[in-house]
Amino acid sequence: MNIQDLVRPNIRQLVPYSSARSEFTGAASVFLDANENPFNNPYNRYPDPLQREVKALISQIRGIPAENIFLGVGSDECIDVVYRTFCRPGIDNVVAMSPSYGMYEVCADINDVAYRRVPLTDDFFLDADAMLAAADSCTKVMWICSPNNPTGNAFPLDVIAGLCSRFQGFVVVVEEYIDFSSRGSMLWHLAATPNLIVMQTLSKAWGSAAVRLGIAFASQEIIDIFNKVKYPYNVNLLTQRYAVDILKRHTEVTAWVDRLKENRTALIAALSGLPCVCHIYPTDANFVLVRVTDADAIYDFLRSRGIIVRNRNRVEKCLGCLRITVGTADENATLINTLLDYGK
Ligand SMILES: *Cc1c(COP(=O)(O)O)cnc(C)c1O
Repeated sequence: MNIQDLVRPNIRQLVPYSSARSEFTGAASVFLDANENPFNNPYNRYPDPLQREVKALISQIRGIPAENIFLGVGSDECIDVVYRTFCRPGIDNVVAMSPSYGMYEVCADINDVAYRRVPLTDDFFLDADAMLAAADSCTKVMWICSPNNPTGNAFPLDVIAGLCSRFQGFVVVVEEYIDFSSRGSMLWHLAATPNLIVMQTLSKAWGSAAVRLGIAFASQEIIDIFNKVKYPYNVNLLTQRYAVDILKRHTEVTAWVDRLKENRTALIAALSGLPCVCHIYPTDANFVLVRVTDADAIYDFLRSRGIIVRNRNRVEKCLGCLRITVGTADENATLINTLLDYGK
């Protein structure tokens, strides 16, 4: 496959903005090239446009070379850069499994790209044949979220790899919850799969939703194009410094994840004993999708007691379902005790 053929012609021909800091990268002591104010160091200086220090740490932790890493302002920017790079507005389309994360469709709408929804099976399995059948010569991207939000399940790697080999466009696998999953990551398929893009984030397991840092892993050819399309200084210095700090604390993060997995097991056990719970779907994430006796009423009841869960009652195939994030042991106990009061 020729990646350049799949890139929008205007992006293929783009002469990117060349910033002062990307033209000079060596060591120097006097910087008079970027019209910065010399006072208030270090926030007076433009940040590294390619975030090298952050990428070096992600590279070490994930075992993927830095040149295969793109960083965005949350995964939301990574999602958007995929559309802006590959999809011609009003012409191209994408295929996505449903139900899944809402931003793939919102971002398609913003970019005027048709969004083709392919339902998961009733037990939330990925229907690879249906995804391929929904594609045509203008389908540039397939969206796979694994573990999936809101269903919680992860898909077998061989099913995803099979989809990559049978599809002529890009397969984006969004792995925001991969640290909570017992299934492996698609990252290990990256080197042998030129049309694979894997997304991860600092927002979930890494406990850093407030700082907005999303990661896309792909071939260097794709990453180089994303870097041309993004805003030159998309990730600010405060975020880069914080990211370096949290990435160095990754053993602590692993301990949080272990604790949340224990809390998840306990939460599922407690929920399964409640009269208002009809079904708990298997989960590879830090949340559980739960079918309850009356989703709207229970959502309102919890809200009236100051507990907010996600009502998925109007989402395809999620009729009667609430999505509940795994919290601390105390938070989970408060939820369970409150649900015991429901209907009394
Ligand atoms: C939470 C979530 C995101 C958001 O990621 P950010 O990096 O915070 O933008 C993206 N995709 C899925 C599937 C999510 O669940």
